[in-house]
Amino acid sequence: CGIVGYIGTQAATEILLSGLEKLEYRGYDSAGIATIWEGEVNCVRAKGKLYNLRSKLEQVETPSQIGIGHTRWATHGKPEVYNAHPHMDGAMRIAVVVNGIIENYSELREELKHKGYQFLSETDVEVIPHLIAEFFKHPPSVSPFCPSLLLEAVRDTVHKLRGAFAIALISADYPDELIVVRQQAPMVIGFGQGEFFCASDTPAIISHTRAVLPLDNKELARLTPLGVEVYNFAGERLRKQPRLLNLNP
Ligand code: GLU
Repeated sequence: CGIVGYIGTQAATEILLSGLEKLEYRGYDSAGIATIWEGEVNCVRAKGKLYNLRSKLEQVETPSQIGIGHTRWATHGKPEVYNAHPHMDGAMRIAVVVNGIIENYSELREELKHKGYQFLSETDVEVIPHLIAEFFKHPPSVSPFCPSLLLEAVRDTVHKLRGAFAIALISADYPDELIVVRQQAPMVIGFGQGEFFCASDTPAIISHTRAVLPLDNKELARLTPLGVEVYNFAGERLRKQPRLLNLNP
């Protein structure tokens, strides 16, 4: 229901948690955060209020400078920890958060199960980390100008998905990239000094930056500590600039 993402030079966990708090008005039944630390994805999820997640994180908080967070409003699968986002692939290298609904998830789930993928949740969105893992299992030959194989994997995956959704994801194998996608559900990107944010709504990031770029429908973006690149689903780079939000209209 609410997404926040961060990549930059500050510790990500507190930025993600306080961002999720600003999205509380959207309602949620569980919450979770994934960061990357020492080459691994560190994923923590909790049922109920955000302070449950906060107290779980106290034991395992890292100074990671990249991460994604989510508050869930269950549409497919009970509001339990195992259905809370982020969802991961079997090798636990990729962590994904999603707003919205993947309409064709049951066909995709069956196809993936036939290929041997195991599902740990009842959600519609768990197909996404597995589809990305499948791309890396059989990577196509890509153009030498391809900016990132992770971006390519996500682009390939979104072509298989139907529905209205927004996605944010990270991979332990690409620790300097945060990929975000918009297909109808809202997603904004925030531009700081050597740090970048994404969120379902501006209140989650407004205390860090007023320079925001709302993604348009069927766009994806690659956030690195060096900047933001926006693409359409065909993979063409789009020239886009953030605009300054006026706080005193
Ligand atoms: N359809 C997803 C689920 O039920 C995401 C719901 C949401 O937007 O929070 O897990």
